[in-house]
Amino acid sequence: MPRDECKWFPTCPMNRYLRMGILDRRWTDYYCHGHWLECVRYDMEERGEDHPDWMLPDGSLDENLRGK
Ligand code: SF4
Repeated sequence: MPRDECKWFPTCPMNRYLRMGILDRRWTDYYCHGHWLECVRYDMEERGEDHPDWMLPDGSLDENLRGK
């Protein structure tokens, strides 16, 4: 059965930020629910590369999320 959600979503900080109401839902709607293969976070997870929690799916850093 095909997945409709990224396998990292339950533990991804983007999920946490979404629930906190500090992340635009468009990020998770697009990446986490259909296009995770385009997500830089997903890619780095797969390769075991460190990346900060406040790095958005497109690879940009959102300093407003830092430490949240
Ligand atoms: S931000 Fe990327 S790694 Fe995290 S759940 Fe969404 S698609 Fe997966």
